[in-house]
Formats: sequence, C-alpha cells, structure tokens
Amino acid sequence: MLDVVRHPAALARLEAALKSALESSQIVCDPGLAAAHAGDWSEAPRKTPALVAYPRTPRQVAEVLRICSEYGQQVVVQGGLTGLAGGANPMASEIVVSLARLNAVEELDTVGGTVLAQAGVILEELAAQVEAAGWYFPLDLGARGSCQIGGNAATNAGGNRVIRFGTMRELVLGLEVALPDGRLLTMLNRVTKNTTGIDLKHLFIGAEGTLGVITRLVLKLSPLPTASTTALCALPSFDAATQLVRELRRALPSLSAFELMWADYLETGAQVCGLRLPFDAAHPIYVLLETLGTDEEAERIALESRLGAALETGMVSDVIVAQSMDDARRLWAYRESIGELLGHLKPFAAFDVGIPMAAMDAFVESVGDELDRRFPNQRHLFFGHIGDGNLHVLSGPHMAPESLHEVERVVYAATGRAGGSISAEHGIGVVKKEFLHWSRSDEELALMRSLKALLDPQGILNAERVLPHEPT
Ligand SMILES: Cc1cc2nc3c(=O)[nH]c(=O)nc-3n(C[C@H](O)[C@H](O)[C@H](O)COP(=O)(O)OP(=O)(O)OC[C@H]3O[C@@H](n4cnc5c(N)ncnc54)[C@H](O)[C@@H]3O)c2cc1C
Repeated sequence: MLDVVRHPAALARLEAALKSALESSQIVCDPGLAAAHAGDWSEAPRKTPALVAYPRTPRQVAEVLRICSEYGQQVVVQGGLTGLAGGANPMASEIVVSLARLNAVEELDTVGGTVLAQAGVILEELAAQVEAAGWYFPLDLGARGSCQIGGNAATNAGGNRVIRFGTMRELVLGLEVALPDGRLLTMLNRVTKNTTGIDLKHLFIGAEGTLGVITRLVLKLSPLPTASTTALCALPSFDAATQLVRELRRALPSLSAFELMWADYLETGAQVCGLRLPFDAAHPIYVLLETLGTDEEAERIALESRLGAALETGMVSDVIVAQSMDDARRLWAYRESIGELLGHLKPFAAFDVGIPMAAMDAFVESVGDELDRRFPNQRHLFFGHIGDGNLHVLSGPHMAPESLHEVERVVYAATGRAGGSISAEHGIGVVKKEFLHWSRSDEELALMRSLKALLDPQGILNAERVLPHEPT
C-alpha cells in the first residue's frame, strides 16, 4: 500500500489525479482545514488526514474510489463524524472521502411515501423536509443535528423510536453504493415488497463502510403524526419497568419511545445540565414515554388512564404527564443529557450493548457492582432504549488507557455471558473489534472476511475496521 503521508511526491500525484476528476476546490490538503476530519466522538486515536476529497455526485464518489484503487491508496469514509466506535477516524496512511457535499434531497414521493436522498443529508434536515411535505421519517437520535443519513445506514442506527418503527435496516428500501473498484451499484428500489433474489442492500447496511460507500438511499416514510404525548414515570424496580412496557405495548399501539434511566444517570445528567430533579423523592428507575398519534385528547386520555392504573397497582410510583410541547421538551432533557455527559466524563468508555430483557436486571447489578468496586473514582451510568433490549453504559473519566480497556473487558465479557450483542446500534469500528468474538462465531467472521476480500481485494476501503485480525 502507498503511504502518501511519508511520500510527498506520491501525494502530489494522487492530488493531481483527483483534481482532474473533481474540481480543485473539492480536494483539500491544507492541514488547518483537514483538522476538522481528525475523528469522531469516540476516544479512538485521532489523526488529521493528508487529503480530504468532497465529492458532489455519486459518480464522483465512485471515481475517487477508482483512482484510489489504481494508486493502491487507502481511504476512510466520513459522514457526520458523530460515531462512537472510531470507524471514521483516519489512520496514518489514509485519505478521507467526506460525504458532506453530497447532501441533496432529490425526490419526495408524496403518493407512495418515500424519499430519495443523498448520503450526506443531515438527519434533522431530512426529517424537517419530509415533515414539510406531510410525511414522517421516524429515525431519531441525540446526534440528529450532525449525523448523516448515509452514516445512519452504514451503522444501522437505532435511537429513540425503534420500539415502534425499527432500526435503519427497516427504514431503507433502496440503496446506491460506490464499490472500492469504482463501480456504482444502483439499487434504488422503491417498493416495500420485492422478492427478487438476494437483497444486496443488507450487505452494506451496518457494514460501517467496509464494503462500499453509500451514496444515495430510498427511505420509507410513515404518515405524519399530529399529536404526541410525553410522560416521565418513577418506578420502584426494573421488574416494574418490564411489566409497564409489556402493558403499554399491548394497550397503546401508538407507543413510540420507552427510555429507561437508572437513578444515577438521571441525577448526574440533571446536575451536569443544571436541571431541577423532576420528583421530590428519589426513585431507583425512571422511564420516559412517548406516544405518537393523530388525536391529542384521545392519546392523552388513553395514556393517563393506563398510567393511573399502573399507579394504583404500584407498578409506577410517581408520574408527570407533559401538558405542552415545552413540558415535553423539559422531560426529554433528562434523557438527552447524554451529549453533555459525554463531554463531562471524558475520557469515557461508552457502551451500546443488546441484552436479553430477562437477563438485564442481573446484568446491570453485577456489572455496576464490579465497576464500582474496581473503579471507585469514576461514574458508571446505565440507561437505554430498553423497549428493544438496548442498554447503554457510560463510564468515566478514565485518565489511564489501561483502565478504559479494563472496563471494556468487564462489560463485553458480561455481555457475552448474558447471550447479548456487544453493539446494538453504534457499530464495531476500531474500538470493539477485538471483542467481536463475544457476539459472532468463527464461521461468521470467516464469511465476513470472504465478502470483504471479494468486494475490496486490495483492502483500500475502511481497512482495519470491524473485523479482528485472523488468528495465526
Ligand atoms: C450524543 C450522541 C447520541 C447518539 N445516539 C445514538 C442513538 O441513539 N442511536 C444510534 O444508533 N447512534 C447514536 N449515536 C451514534 C451516532 O450518532 C450514529 O452511529 C450515527 O449513525 C453515525 O452517523 P455519522 O454520519 O455521524 O457517521 P460517522 O461517524 O461519520 O461514521 C460512522 C461509520 O460509518 C461509516 N460511514 C459514514 N458514512 C458512510 C457512507 N455514506 N457510506 C459508507 N460508510 C459510511 C464511517 O466510515 C464509520 O465507519 C449517538 C452519538 C452521539 C454523539
């Protein structure tokens, strides 16, 4: 492989070749400007790249990859850089392909309820454009103002509303992908039912850019909800939370979020964000609920009646139901404190494990105890999108890299023992690849390596990510 950083003449030749395919302004070598591409939100090593390419069309993305293939040049793909697994961080010998300028919403089908968008469209902007046309794109996560829809597909993002609408995998109908050798694979299917052989888009969703660069997507939209209710509940135990989610899913088909926060998470988040605690008394567990429907009053009456019954049986200890949009925003602020907490607990270890619901309470207790015992000077906060078994753990600050690594070993080994997944939504990137064996068998890893070798025989694209080294 060519290392452009150590061979300035080679870098100049590559730069010239890229500038002949794209406009000069789309190729940046200035370290001051390239510094913005040094890395994502994770604690993985950062590096300012020697060159950043900003293609404006899918064909230009493919052309950049074709030239890099020809030069044997390694490339890392960057979306909005909000990832928490370090997959988008450049390594020493890599240049960056940034999707930031491939950012148009090309077509909104208001009859069929689909949208064709380029990969670099910011999630929040996509949602706003779709809503202005009377439709709804349900993916929602804390990084909505910066993450890109292509990055969301590459990581199979989940977020707050998976319980009702599913992850990105369920929301993508069609995909276009630039392959490492420069071919553009256009699979912009728009229909929900399509049984015409192997559904190739699923190879690229969740592959974190290891097999190709997503350039355009056809996304499935939902009817626009016009009424929403939000409530914050205090609960006596995790067991009560599992009963409540079961009861509400049965009784309220409009339930769209069920976000669990253990007491430490809510209290630390409130403190860091300067929020007043929501209830007079402290409780072990809090749940933030949301329903999305069309009739405000009917939604509220249904929710209040279910929560009233839960209060009577003791399943819920206390509850606040939002009476306005401002109230709803205030309640969501406890859950959304994660952005500030990530900054506050740096250097942190952030986990997004998937744990079977039946094993979750014991998991939180035993992992929490072990982390408290071994790292008494750090905070260990538990929260998550529990309606779908996705538990987040945030632990920090860990000033020593060994301590960070030790926390990872504790959490992933416990996840493996619980029969869970080491990543429910953030992906593997570089930070989790040595732990992948806890969730995937040797046979699965071997097949993944074969697919990588088939589509990227030179290993130029997002190399050294996701897949651990083969045992020697
Ligand atoms: C405050 C905060 C809250 C978050 N909450 C959630 C949450 O609730 N749920 C959740 O799932 N995630 C969450 N995340 C993680 C992150 O936002 C998601 O992983 C997001 O999908 C990443 O998108 P991005 O555009 O920023 O991708 P990047 O960080 O730029 O890249 C992520 C990976 O995808 C690859 N990639 C990016 N674009 C493409 C493309 N077009 N084609 C191929 N590969 C590509 C990169 O190479 C990298 O490996 C959160 C992050 C933060 C900071």
